[in-house]
Order: sequence, then C-alpha cells, then structure tokens
Amino acid sequence: MADTQGGGRFDFVIVGAGSAGCVLASRLSEDPSITVALLEAGGHNDKLLVNMPAGASQLFNNKNDTNWAFDTVAQEALGGRRLFQPRGRGWGGSSSINAMMYIRGHARDYDQWRQTGLTGWGYADVLPYFKRSQNNENGGDAWNGEGGPLHVSPSPPGYPLQKVFIQAAVQAGYPQTRDFNGYQQEGAGPYSLTIKDGKRWSTANAYLRPVLSARPNLTVISNAHAGRVIVENGVAVGVEYSAGPGKPVQSVYANREVILSAGAFQSPQLLLLSGIGPADELKKLDIPVVVDSPDVGSNLQDHIDCGVLYGCTKPITLYSLLKGHRQPMVGIEYMLRGTGHGRTIHLHSGAFLKTRGELDRPDVQIHFVNALMRDHGRVKAESDGFTIHTCPLRPDSRGTVKLASRNPFESPLIDPRYLTEPNDIRCMRDSIRMIRDIVAQHAFDNYRGDEIAPGAHMRTDSELDAWIRQTAETLYHPVGTVRMGADEKAPVDGDLRVRGVSGLRVIDASVMPTLIGGNTNAPTIMIAEKLSDKLRGKPFLPAQDAPIAEDEKVAV
Ligand SMILES: Cc1cc2nc3c(=O)[nH]c(=O)nc-3n(C[C@H](O)[C@H](O)[C@H](O)COP(=O)(O)OP(=O)(O)OC[C@H]3O[C@@H](n4cnc5c(N)ncnc54)[C@H](O)[C@@H]3O)c2cc1C
Repeated sequence: MADTQGGGRFDFVIVGAGSAGCVLASRLSEDPSITVALLEAGGHNDKLLVNMPAGASQLFNNKNDTNWAFDTVAQEALGGRRLFQPRGRGWGGSSSINAMMYIRGHARDYDQWRQTGLTGWGYADVLPYFKRSQNNENGGDAWNGEGGPLHVSPSPPGYPLQKVFIQAAVQAGYPQTRDFNGYQQEGAGPYSLTIKDGKRWSTANAYLRPVLSARPNLTVISNAHAGRVIVENGVAVGVEYSAGPGKPVQSVYANREVILSAGAFQSPQLLLLSGIGPADELKKLDIPVVVDSPDVGSNLQDHIDCGVLYGCTKPITLYSLLKGHRQPMVGIEYMLRGTGHGRTIHLHSGAFLKTRGELDRPDVQIHFVNALMRDHGRVKAESDGFTIHTCPLRPDSRGTVKLASRNPFESPLIDPRYLTEPNDIRCMRDSIRMIRDIVAQHAFDNYRGDEIAPGAHMRTDSELDAWIRQTAETLYHPVGTVRMGADEKAPVDGDLRVRGVSGLRVIDASVMPTLIGGNTNAPTIMIAEKLSDKLRGKPFLPAQDAPIAEDEKVAV
C-alpha cells in the first residue's frame, strides 16, 4: 500500500510507473505472496489538468512536472530542425499526458512479429490480452473486452465536424468503419477514447490507484530517478536511484527480477548506463561493459506527422468554444459539475487509408482535430478552423537513442532520423492530396474555409516535400529501441528477457520490433498484460482469433 521514500528488498523491482509499469505492478501484486516495488522518477499526477481530458494540450506541449519534454538531435532530413519529444513523467507516464486514442494497430502487424520467429506474439495470441485489459463502454464482442481495468468510451456526440469528416471521406470513395480495432481497420470512422465518466483513464487511474491502498505487498516509490541496474555476476539484483542531481543514491533489491518499463527513450538509456549496450559506445564514456549488446538503442521508429490546416466558416471549432472567458469557464464547469467541453479531447474521428491500392493494409492514419493546431498547439489559433493530421504508419526510417554522458539526469541523444527513407515522405505527400480530396467533398460545403497550410498554391511534389520537411512533427509513438527478436542480436528475447544478464527484462514500448499501424498506448498495455502472466508463472491465455475483413486477412 505504501507510497514511500524507499530502499528495501522486493520480489520484483519495476522502474517506471507508465503505461506498462502500472499494469505490471497491479497484475503482479494481485498475488499477495509476491512483493513489488514500483519506482517512478515523477510524482502522483493526480491533478486537474491530468484528469480533465481537455487539459492534455496544456501538458504535452511544454516542459512541466508531468512531461520530460525531450528534444531530438538535429534532423538531417528536416533541415536540421530539433523536434520536440514529449514523454509523460509521474504515475501513468505517457498515458497521463497522451491524447487518449484507443487504437491497437492492424492484426497483420502482430502476425508479422510472429512470422519473424516471435512465437506467441501473433494477432490471435495478443487479442485475448487486449480484451482482458479493456472495459468497452459499448460492451464486449469478438474484438472488444468487458470488465477489464482500462475503460474505453465512444467519442461523445455534439461536435458536428467530426461526422462531417467521416461523411466526406465516404463521398471521396473511402470505406466507413465502425470500429478501427474490430473487423475492418480500413476506412473513416469514430475514435474510441480511454476516458471514463469524463476523466482521463491513464494506467495510473485504471490499474494502480484502485488497488494500491488494499495491497500491502505493493510499494510505489515516487520521485525516484533510477540511474543504474545493479548487476552482480551476470545477475540483475537491484536498482540504484535518487531523488535528483546531488541527492543521496539509494538502492532497492530484487529477489526475483528487475523490470525496466521506463519507455522507448529511457529504458535503453538505463541499459546503457548499466553497461548493457554496444561495447564501443560504452567504452567511449568509460562505462564498464557488462554485456556487449550492439542493438540496444538502435531500431528507433516513430510516427512522423504533419497537419493540413483549413479555416472553418462556422463558429463551431475550439477557437469559438474557448474564446475569451470561455476557456477558464471550461475548467470551472468541469471542477464544479464535471460537465462541458473539459470532458473530452477534441479529436473524435479519423481514418486509416491506403495510399496505394495494392497494399494489404492501410499505410496512413488520419486524425481530425476540431481546431487549428500548429507546433503541438503552441501557436495560438486566431480563428475558427480544423486540422487534418496524417502520418505514415510503418515508416522505413530508423534512428537511435544514445547516451549524451554517464549522468543519468542528462537527457539521452534521440535521433529518429525522420524522413531519411524516400517512401516515408512519399506516403505523407500522397496522403495530403487524399486529404484535399476529402475536404473538397460536398459534406464540407457549409464549413470549408481556405486551406491555410500548406496552402492551395502548393501543388507539386517538390513544394509539398519542402513544406513537410519544414513542418513535420512527432505523433509521439517511439518504439523499437530494445527490440524483441528471435535472433541473437536482439537485445531481448520473445519473453522480454535481456540477453546476457539474468533476472532482467524490459517491458514497455521499446520492445516492439516494428511500429504497429496505430497509436501505441493500448499495444504497450497489452504487452505488459501478457508478460505479467509469464512473471507470475501462469500459462498464457489461449489464442483466440477474430474475423478480419477479407482483403485485410492475415497470411499465415
Ligand atoms: C503527447 C503524447 C500523446 C500520445 N497520444 C497517444 C494516444 O492518443 N493514443 C495512444 O495509444 N498512444 C498515445 N501516445 C503514446 C503512448 O502514450 C505511449 O506509447 C505509451 O504511453 C508508452 O508507454 P511506456 O510504458 O512505454 O512508457 P511511458 O508511459 O512513457 O512510461 C515510462 C515511465 O518511466 C518513467 N521513467 C523514465 N525514466 C525513469 C528513470 N530513470 N527512473 C524512474 N522512472 C523513470 C517515466 O517518468 C514514465 O512514467 C502518446 C504519447 C504522448 C507523449
């Protein structure tokens, strides 16, 4: 039950109370005979802006106590720009600042993992874990679960442009889909959200808070920044941490295992700080090599995104909804009555589309935002308008996470190498043209203003490419930096054990070998759900298939 200052000895020590860490801590401590310590660099994250879904935009676009707010190194294919990289800090991790889209990716993504030799990671293997985690407000079915901790609600009614977007996409000839996580991903449709009764359903709210006070075997140590895994004779035995630079270093010990769930930038950082990584890189920083694991920190993949901006001729977008005194009133109404625009994030519909007919699954995702959104919302909108974001779902570009120094408080060097592969920008360019076609449809006639960016005059490939390179930003889905693989070079195996050290696993978004076609919170939660069974010595849930649209069928 404790939320303590720490030290001590536990069966499992988990680093990072984010999307994966909260799930693991909660599931492992269901067994009263297992003791668990959950270390988190940040605090409790139990404040209005975190819990009120509309508060997200105030948290994710600047550095604050819930956001690490990293920057990438200069991106060669983006004119040398350094891109902002928000990451959640504190209980719930990135699920406490994210946009709450509930998306799983495509069935084929997981079957591809299995086809590389990762037994147990095919769609039929992971579906039961997606379902176990979920409490779908619309009820369970072949694809959706009921009764799980993660509440998933439909988009709220009352925001007309969200429907207009879906109608226009259908008029443009694209399919409509009822549930992006169900029978057919392809098409335009409504998003489901991890929101419960108007409150953000982070993994802290879903998995941790409801059980913490009733479990004497679960200890959360907040403000505990881990600096190193303690490895003795090839076995991970504990973790060193401190409350901040210059503060005393403490140790916590694990009888059974240490688990890193610090996310796609900081799990590889912690491995490297612990001497697990490419030997030549470690030697340059005088870090004693514990395991020469050349792929730690490589294989970084992220969704790079750009937003096409349009004016709106009616006062129905966020600009008008929040104009003048209305913005503070939203917070006050939410606090006093729990009602109003604060109950949701203003991103309710979108699409998964193919930029080329012959593809076996959608290769771009579209997010329709009921506001003009530039630079993560840091450029204040001065008029009504909407933004249609697009990102290539399975980018070819691969980047790295490296250490800047041996100092655990220094940010890692994040180099996603965005748009260094030609198909990624081709995909974005084609999808901008698809978006223009959708907005040209009849459904938008009563709302369509001018195209603000890139601007209707920007037509040629080279004009669009130049604009994309000037404006593209992350969609916040880094993965792959501690990839799981059946091959010996992969830093972790299919059970997420770190190769070369016993008693150490990495369980979070960093283990995904390839980026899945969608947002990454639900897949990260699924990974932690599945591994919690392994750690408790329970058999995995039986594989369970669900029908998938004929032309998206998985080739086995
Ligand atoms: C702004 C934003 C919007 C997003 N929107 C969506 C969305 O709408 N839908 C979706 O599906 N996905 C979204 N994502 C992505 C999704 O939230 C992440 O993929 C997911 O939360 C990753 O989970 P994780 O467990 O790997 O890491 P995290 O949830 O980031 O957790 C890592 C935790 O480890 C802690 N930590 C790090 N280093 C240390 C250390 N040295 N010592 C102790 N603790 C440490 C961190 O503080 C953090 O709490 C978004 C992400 C962001 C940032």
